[in-house]
Amino acid sequence: MIHEIEAKKLLITNPHPSSWFGVKYYLNIYRGCMHGCIYCDTRSECYNIDNFDTDISVKTNAIELLKKELLAKRFRETIGFGSASDPYVPIEKKYELTKQALEVVKDFRFPLSLLTKSNLVLRDADIISEISKQNYACIAFTITTADDELAKIIEPHAPLPSQRFQAMGILSAARNKNWCFNNAYPTLYNGYRRKYYRYCKTGPFTWCKLCIFIFWRYLKR
Ligand code: SF4
Repeated sequence: MIHEIEAKKLLITNPHPSSWFGVKYYLNIYRGCMHGCIYCDTRSECYNIDNFDTDISVKTNAIELLKKELLAKRFRETIGFGSASDPYVPIEKKYELTKQALEVVKDFRFPLSLLTKSNLVLRDADIISEISKQNYACIAFTITTADDELAKIIEPHAPLPSQRFQAMGILSAARNKNWCFNNAYPTLYNGYRRKYYRYCKTGPFTWCKLCIFIFWRYLKR
């Protein structure tokens, strides 16, 4: 069931911005997630979200809140999408709130870090490229396995890994400052290296290559 709600606040301050992504402020436009990953830790009681997979709340005033909260920031620090829900859950096709929020991030000239499992991110590639040209944009794809059949079991409603690899390749080919990060669970590794290389090896992105290096070393142990 979809619930439209009015949030009081949107940005969550990260007291310890990570050295990898530098995210200072997180935002989640949707509460709950339709992708249904069996390992998702956001179902944990500490997040206080009942029926995480089936009851999705849409913060319909998210754009208004984002503008107001960014206006109040003294420094332009990285905005992170996708900490407790995927910013590209299927209903984003209808609401387009992530797209509008990216427009706001672009207009306010803040850096961006976005984590997703969805190739719907390609719809917004032009906005992301603009943010990247202004300062910095990081698009990260979670990949738990390269096997589409296995993914249908462990991530039943998320776009397939092959679609994510394809999206990663398209973003890489755009040849701007974007970079793509694969968060892999090596125990589910299945032809991961081969597919990762096929889609990413032409990317001119230092971080992308660094990630390949890290996972290569890890997987070779
Ligand atoms: S996409 Fe992320 S937030 Fe959504 S169910 Fe999967 S792990 Fe959880």
